[in-house]
Amino acid sequence: MAEKTLNPFEIVQQQIRSACDKLGAEEAVYELLKQPLRTLEVNFPVKMDDGSIRVFTGYRAQHNDALGPAKGGIRFHPGVNFDEVKALSTWMTFKCGVVGVPYGGGKGGITVDPSELSPGELERLSRAYIIAISPVIGEKKDIPAPDVGTNPQIMSWMTDEYSRMRGENVPGIITGKPVAFGGSLARNEATGYGVALMMREAAKKNGLDMKDLRVVVQGFGNVGSFAAMYAEELGAKVVAISDFSCCLVDENGIDVKALREYAAKNKNKFITGFGNGTQELHREAVFGVECDIFSPCALENAITSQNVNQIKARIIVEGANGPTTPEANKVLNEKGLFVVPDILANAGGVTVSYFEWVQNLMNHYWPFDEVQEKQEQLMVKAFNEIISLSEEYNVDMRTAAYMISIKKVADAMKLRGWY
Ligand code: GLU
Repeated sequence: MAEKTLNPFEIVQQQIRSACDKLGAEEAVYELLKQPLRTLEVNFPVKMDDGSIRVFTGYRAQHNDALGPAKGGIRFHPGVNFDEVKALSTWMTFKCGVVGVPYGGGKGGITVDPSELSPGELERLSRAYIIAISPVIGEKKDIPAPDVGTNPQIMSWMTDEYSRMRGENVPGIITGKPVAFGGSLARNEATGYGVALMMREAAKKNGLDMKDLRVVVQGFGNVGSFAAMYAEELGAKVVAISDFSCCLVDENGIDVKALREYAAKNKNKFITGFGNGTQELHREAVFGVECDIFSPCALENAITSQNVNQIKARIIVEGANGPTTPEANKVLNEKGLFVVPDILANAGGVTVSYFEWVQNLMNHYWPFDEVQEKQEQLMVKAFNEIISLSEEYNVDMRTAAYMISIKKVADAMKLRGWY
């Protein structure tokens, strides 16, 4: 059966509706949260290496700013569109609320395949985009960061361009910068590290020990590769990993560090051809590999009604934003799988972005272990709060996470006042 909707913006609106209903929130709360406060579309020219001019379309959405400045990444991907950016900005508001970092939600993106651009073209595109959205961003207003298709180098170009425009160094305008240029230690690892921590907590809650568990990770970008690496460090066996190129399976456990090194050198950072005793299958095979924890760490709508019944896991930990469609989510709940929702499971990135921003504003930098300890404290606390609420209201963790977050945002909006 085809899904009723795969539009992420409609999906997040349904998630807000159901949590507002459970909370008994007044209608104005839903009306305000179902769409962003402010959105911007930009169209801007970039000079290509061959001298031609290409016009690109980009977006920035600021979903909410009741708890603090808008915060969220910038995506470079051919599938980027306005509704996706709006949905991603909405998830950021609730993600920040869940872990209690003092931000609202924002997101940006450009419809582009960055792998088709030369380094020079990518740099000019990045600089042009940040200037195009500069009227709406600021270190106390809206703070971008990396997302799918962007990286610390791109954050450097953008920070440099914005600082030139302002005529002063503004490191707090963007997070996810390289450590050598105002970034925080442990930021690059943060999202994947957080996903692995949530695997550990979910295992513990279900009376399991990470050391006995088999983990499958779908996606091997910044999130999936570090999630797999830290899951392995926590003692689990990573029995399958997929990306766009293929799915690698090894029931004795894939050597994740070796795969990370291999992929870093490979064309488009793909995992295909790794060998080392792994069996190479089509990427869709990842859903059917028997495991204890399945972790979707790629894009939205990965787990659908088409493949949900293939999944042979007891725990799902969502490293990607919006990886499960509402229909698939229903099936997971009916089957009694334990789902750690995206707005908690992948909140490690923005949590350490917050630490980076604090360090930038203080101009004082912390050691790696201190950053990871602070991240662990916030995420484990959020996990426990969500579990308590889900038990109190007898709702799944996703609904509980939205309820906690919506309540925080609604309380802040009311305290600030409506006039
Ligand atoms: N793009 C990441 C996310 O979706 C990180 C955002 C940030 O660090 O601001 O959570």
